Amino acid sequence: MSATYPDTLLFIDGRWRAGAGGRTIPVSDPATSEVIGQLARAEIADLDEALAAAARGFATWRATGVFERYRIMRRAADLLRGRVDGIAGLMTREQGKPLAEARAETLAAADTIDWFAEEARRAYGQIIPARAPNVTQMALKLPVGPVAAFTPWNFPINQAVRKISAALAAGCSIIVKAPEETPASPAELIRALADAGVPAGVVNLVYGVPAEISEYLIPHPVIRKISFTGSTPIGKHLAALAGQHMKRATMELGGHAPVIVAADADLGKAVKLIAAAKLRNAGQVCISPTRFLVEEAAFEPFLSGFADALGATRVGNGLDPDSQMGPLANERRVSALEGLVADAVDQGARLVTGGKRIGNIGNFFEPTVLAEVPLSARIMSEEPFGPIAVVNPFATLDEAIAEANRLPFGLASYGFSRSAETIRRLGLEIEAGMTTINHFGLALPEVPFGGVRESGHGTEGGSEAIEAYLVTKFVTQTAA
Ligand code: NAD
Repeated sequence: MSATYPDTLLFIDGRWRAGAGGRTIPVSDPATSEVIGQLARAEIADLDEALAAAARGFATWRATGVFERYRIMRRAADLLRGRVDGIAGLMTREQGKPLAEARAETLAAADTIDWFAEEARRAYGQIIPARAPNVTQMALKLPVGPVAAFTPWNFPINQAVRKISAALAAGCSIIVKAPEETPASPAELIRALADAGVPAGVVNLVYGVPAEISEYLIPHPVIRKISFTGSTPIGKHLAALAGQHMKRATMELGGHAPVIVAADADLGKAVKLIAAAKLRNAGQVCISPTRFLVEEAAFEPFLSGFADALGATRVGNGLDPDSQMGPLANERRVSALEGLVADAVDQGARLVTGGKRIGNIGNFFEPTVLAEVPLSARIMSEEPFGPIAVVNPFATLDEAIAEANRLPFGLASYGFSRSAETIRRLGLEIEAGMTTINHFGLALPEVPFGGVRESGHGTEGGSEAIEAYLVTKFVTQTAA
């Protein structure tokens, strides 16, 4: 078992401190339901200080040479790597995921910081050939300004690190409202950045009442850019608010990822890969595979192999090294999943495995497979965000692609086939920001990460990701 779990403070203008009102929010362990710590709650006065600090921090950071920014960021990545065991223990206690996943998330965050540090040195503008002699036309890439970022509880560090690293690489300051339910591990990310030498005011961390904070920060004139990861309904609300104030916004929202398994696929490999992907973080992943569409000839063999793999999962406290899947991160998810399963079964779906919460301590839920689920069931349209898969048969690839594209979401998608033609069509015809075929290859820092349609807009990975934090300034000049 991990040692102590700390209380978490706000980080404003380079200082860890309580909220102005002295109020706190309790933090619970989702495996035991016990309150394990307290979190400082920001009031409007704290937000005003964070805004003033971010304005000063921006002036400092944009004037810091890009090589110095790069070096500080690389140092922060190394500090995170060195602290991985302690940070992973905190993350597992507050979020529930197995320690191995918490470690992997922390190490991946260090890779993300490295990637963006390197991108900082390559944020090239352009020299544009001029019509007139002696004129120099330049398209400069400049930092957009102070950023407000809102990040969720499913990947407490990795949802924050993408936004923070891109902002820092571009030369922006940032105020992060990190998740109240999982506060201590993202605070360690901020600590690593501060210890590495990020100046006061450049990165600020607040927690509190999400709606109160977003409604104050987004319209505020100091803030020039918004970035949000979370559900589509909240994303629409925040994007509308950003639009009213003409603020640029990146939105990483929900999905309901289709998985198309053709009869000619390597079924053994497909089951193994996709079962592991499904169980990762107990399915509380925006790119989690959820709507399985399996060609009729492979339907029963795939279903039985997949249900066996999920049914054999060892579910337990994430601190126990034998646990393959931890609890759900909060009680809301348990009741949401119970409701989705009951509704699907009522409408005639076959419950192949799982379907219930486990025990009455903590938020444990059985890995669940529902088969032959009618389209009218809520789970066919609502993102389950938990360890549930629906598996339905299809007759033709056209039919499968049409079902994959039926929902307004378009984040991740998966395909398994040995046919070059099927592989080609899956890559081009599924309306999604990301498609991974015959392997799991998503969410690396160097590749695009983002959705289309109601899954949001903008990418948080790859060489385009820094663009969201840059503005293009055109300067044309000639000798006096
Ligand atoms: P929710 O919709 O209430 O909140 C989602 C996230 O948005 C949380 O982190 C929350 O703190 C934040 N939030 C809520 N209202 C906000 C506001 N007015 N301003 C700023 N931030 C706000 O739901 P929840 O119960 O926390 O999570 C359930 C759903 O959220 C899931 O079904 C899933 O669709 C979605 N979700 C998506 C991701 C993702 O990675 N895209 C992560 C977590 C949750």
